[in-house]
Amino acid sequence: MALKYIDELDLKDKRVMVRVDYNVPYDKEMNITDDTRITATLPTLNYCLENGAKLIIVSHLGRPKGQVKPSLSLKPVAVRLEEILGRAVKFIDTPLGEETIAFTKNMQSGDIVLFENIRFYPGEEKNDKALGELLAKHADVFINDAFAAAHRGHASNFAVTEFVPIVAAGFLLKNEIEYSEHTIQNAKRPFGAIIGGAKVSSKLDALNNIVNKVDFLIIGGGMAFTFLKAQGYSIGNSLLEEDLIDSAKEIMKKAKEKNVTLLLPVDIVGAPEFDNESPRGVYSIDSIPDNIIGLDIGPESIKLFAEEIKKAKTVIWNGPMGAFEMPNFATGTNEIAKVLAESHCLSIVGGGDSVTAVNQAGVADKITYISTGGGAFLEVLEGKVLPGIAALDRY
Ligand code: AMP
Repeated sequence: MALKYIDELDLKDKRVMVRVDYNVPYDKEMNITDDTRITATLPTLNYCLENGAKLIIVSHLGRPKGQVKPSLSLKPVAVRLEEILGRAVKFIDTPLGEETIAFTKNMQSGDIVLFENIRFYPGEEKNDKALGELLAKHADVFINDAFAAAHRGHASNFAVTEFVPIVAAGFLLKNEIEYSEHTIQNAKRPFGAIIGGAKVSSKLDALNNIVNKVDFLIIGGGMAFTFLKAQGYSIGNSLLEEDLIDSAKEIMKKAKEKNVTLLLPVDIVGAPEFDNESPRGVYSIDSIPDNIIGLDIGPESIKLFAEEIKKAKTVIWNGPMGAFEMPNFATGTNEIAKVLAESHCLSIVGGGDSVTAVNQAGVADKITYISTGGGAFLEVLEGKVLPGIAALDRY
């Protein structure tokens, strides 16, 4: 792909529209409870400001479905951004009005505006050309720094690019492309993937793609039980996607043909109820009682997975090893996070739950790269070209 990056451009006195992902969580009083998504864009914003740009920031928040929903306004984000940057941020709730176009034309270098939630417009999620064209009236340069939204081709990250003379990726997007995409293509070997989470169905495309790239594939979480069932084990009341047993067999067959080491749990922690307080026990996978739900990987599985991870030069992780929201079933996920952090490999973690897990285990600073994308990261694992990145591919 032939992209330009922000640091290749002359931004002086230009109106630079930066598409960010400020899809931050609010509490009931609309206080921002986690501003990671805002701070993640600071390298790009500060670069623009240091280089004399006029900043026009565009984002979505939540799913207002084309309607104005005051509870999903970006106004609190403008206030927080002002505090973080230590400079005025003008919040504009009518981004597409004539008066706003006149306003942004008259901005001075160093001025900053944040537009209201772009998903308040029905054209956004429809990738409406007219909306893209209107947005482009505010911009001499378009920078996409919203990796977490890059798997969607919407008006503010796709249609708009058609109408702006210069488009490029910001620093956050650059990092994501380098760590996620480039690493998968050119990983130092041994290269492994750890895939977990509830369902095979949501990770099937990722598994089918990644099995072609890696030297080892570790499968944990609820999805492992469909694989164990495919191998003929009784899995009690654990999660099962019966219709995917054949797909699981196919993946195991592919792994064998390609000499990929595929590791599944050899023991599990289970309980009769999906409840943190339900009495738990450790069971070998060949003796899971009928009434037991497998909710975590067991100690022998942790050891087995750890040995493989320690041999690796590159590891990608997506999806927890168990129902880790319940502390009694979080050990497997936390231990794998620690093993990954302590290993000397290049480690990349993506997907909301795995990122929560490395934070929960207190090892986030020892992971080489933590992706800001959930769905977008998964689509990179699937080998897909993300529309928001493809739209920048014009040089
Ligand atoms: P995903 O969004 O597909 O990555 O799945 C994450 C969810 O999978 C988390 O909410 C976990 O609680 C859940 N999960 C992981 N392992 C299991 C399991 N063995 N049984 C039920 N749910 C699980």
